[in-house]
Amino acid sequence: PETKLPGVGTTIFAQMSALAQAHQAINLSQGFPDFDGPEALLARVDHHIRAGANQYAPMNGVPALTAAIAAKVQRCYGRQVDAASEVTVTSGATEALFAAIAAVVRPGDEVIVFDPAYDSYDPAVRLNGGKAVHLQLQPPAFGIDWDEVARAINPSTRMIILNTPHNPIGQVLSEADMQALSRLVEGTDILLLADEVYEHIVFDGAAHQSMNRYPDLAKRSFVVSSFGKTYHTTGWKVGYCVAPAPLSAELRKVHQYLTFSTSTPFQLALADYLNADSSHDQALPAFYQAKRDHFNALMADSRFRFTPAGGTYFQVMDYSAISDLPDTEFVLCLVEQAGVVAIPLSVFCQQPPEMKLVRFCFAKNESTLEQAAERLCTI
Ligand code: PMP
Ligand code: GLN
Repeated sequence: PETKLPGVGTTIFAQMSALAQAHQAINLSQGFPDFDGPEALLARVDHHIRAGANQYAPMNGVPALTAAIAAKVQRCYGRQVDAASEVTVTSGATEALFAAIAAVVRPGDEVIVFDPAYDSYDPAVRLNGGKAVHLQLQPPAFGIDWDEVARAINPSTRMIILNTPHNPIGQVLSEADMQALSRLVEGTDILLLADEVYEHIVFDGAAHQSMNRYPDLAKRSFVVSSFGKTYHTTGWKVGYCVAPAPLSAELRKVHQYLTFSTSTPFQLALADYLNADSSHDQALPAFYQAKRDHFNALMADSRFRFTPAGGTYFQVMDYSAISDLPDTEFVLCLVEQAGVVAIPLSVFCQQPPEMKLVRFCFAKNESTLEQAAERLCTI
């Protein structure tokens, strides 16, 4: 019989990290920092484990953490949300994305995604009987063509998935984008799934355009974020979803049978840390912008071409001056010839356009970035 996900293999992130390990190469592929989160946060996990907080957390999240998330949404985006009915803690953003899709997408529903698209969206839509409608963001700017979106919308359109700051491109949506989106969905039943996991990693003074800033968008949105990106703790897998109570209620029906609840000591530690101090979040743009600038300055001596990322901890680079190979083959040469692993961009597109682009993760210590850039400048 046909499998439920024909054409789906092992995710590119697992593949590329395994390749890096096999070659003992520098791994700039899968997105994760090679440094730890704040010591004060790590210490709280230890504290809560030793204090016996080792049993199931409440299904929706520990109250101290959902309250801290609600306070953060108010502080950052000026939106008042009810912690008890509108905030759900999930096992990473990945779970929140899947639960939101499973909660509302019915067989035959269409979901608009923008390629290059993060790899978990399409399979989640398909597993739930929906049809992902892929619209291609066009290089070099990779902005959204709102007229094209308008043409793609029809009575079967159930949801639009947006990701800002954007992985893998690193581009951020503008206020004008949000206004165009508002005009498009006004008077429709279309829901929005906003993947905002890089909400605190936005550069050059730009403001993150959260759905939570816009009441008319927020009322139809699942807004998803992840503590893994903000606190350098991707392995903890703690994320969350903020959505109006009726949408949260549907999401929770799925969440309770997917994972039921999320790791208790990590939630308690995050609650303590969020309540104690927001300076880490505020310092994050400058912290990652310095890494972007350091890496890019070193890469200026290479034959890669690039426009600096506007957000995220990824930098996309064009290798067309180096090779004619397709990107999936180029990354294999790169590991052999330079000992550095990157992510090919075509894997994020249903129909890859003509482009020769790879993604490097710069969430790394200076020494890692320097060593990688030195190698990349030799090819
Ligand atoms: N969405 C995007 C755009 C991401 O980059 C990631 C992290 N890889 C996720 C979702 C998943 O986040 P988490 O690790 O918290 O599940
Ligand atoms: N989001 C991370 C990235 O883009 C990877 C997450 C994963 O490995 N599933 O690299």
